[in-house]
Amino acid sequence: MTFRAQHLLGIEPLAPAEITALLDRADRYVAFNRGAAKHADSLAGMTQVNMFFEPSTRTQASFELAGKRLGADVMNMAMRASSLNKGETLIDTAMTLNAMHPDLLVVRHPNSGAVDLLAQKVTCAVLNAGDGRHEHPTQALLDALTIRRAKGRLHRLTVAICGDIAHSRVARSNIWLLGKMENRIRLVGPPTLMPAAAAELGVEVTDDMRAGLADADVVMMLRLQRERMDGGFVPSEREYYHRFGLDSDKLAHAKPDAIVMHPGPMNRGVEIDGTLADDINRSVIQEQVEMGVAVRMAAMELLAENLRAARAEAAHG
Ligand code: ASP
Repeated sequence: MTFRAQHLLGIEPLAPAEITALLDRADRYVAFNRGAAKHADSLAGMTQVNMFFEPSTRTQASFELAGKRLGADVMNMAMRASSLNKGETLIDTAMTLNAMHPDLLVVRHPNSGAVDLLAQKVTCAVLNAGDGRHEHPTQALLDALTIRRAKGRLHRLTVAICGDIAHSRVARSNIWLLGKMENRIRLVGPPTLMPAAAAELGVEVTDDMRAGLADADVVMMLRLQRERMDGGFVPSEREYYHRFGLDSDKLAHAKPDAIVMHPGPMNRGVEIDGTLADDINRSVIQEQVEMGVAVRMAAMELLAENLRAARAEAAHG
């Protein structure tokens, strides 16, 4: 079995072969999802619980749809971060849920590391749907699938990741994934939004959009994560857009066939020009959303297979 993980907590622990196996499986679900009968039964009898302690539109909807399309019983719990952001309470909640025998637990939490902690306490498979500024593995996987389909490969590409890198779990997961697949990564953004250890990540770092985008195959824009900032990291949105916002002039420095990506939610006129974001000849933002469902189906199915195997092994002693 190529995909060995028991949980999907991040990209960091995955082997390149596991990433490829997951993307190959997801690719098959893209075709399936475009068909008329979008129902399979590989998760039949399994219970999937979605616990989102932070707001989410795309991620939660696509995890829910993914589970339903594979026949799982899906429950969404509306968690309020304000009342449940203490470690102990989170563990108590997890233990309570665990007693109801879920099989798949999808968790988003504002604290980095909270999902790992939770995974140690439960007996089901846990999927990280974004923890603080740490990781958002299914986002990086759906980005990878989008890139692979658009470019025909997922190696030896130049990828510029631009904007608020410091607060972005999307950037971290993408740096892991694209690095493991041997791509050239450039981080582009103001020094105030660059992680202190950026240079140690094996990437190039610049605060000049033109230099950062030069000959890039992929331009990935990120949102200014104001909810994770505790002060003024940028002078003004206008100034930010002028220097770091993606418009067609700046994009002209990338390869002529470079694709434009954004994980959403997008702030038009802050990190990206709205017309460019909607330009179907350059932007693959809608494809990213489509790939999200297929990637989450593949991830949950692979984890469910490993969970069944582990349970069968335990039962046989
Ligand atoms: N949706 C992504 C996340 O949850 C990106 C963002 O919020 O800007 O990390």
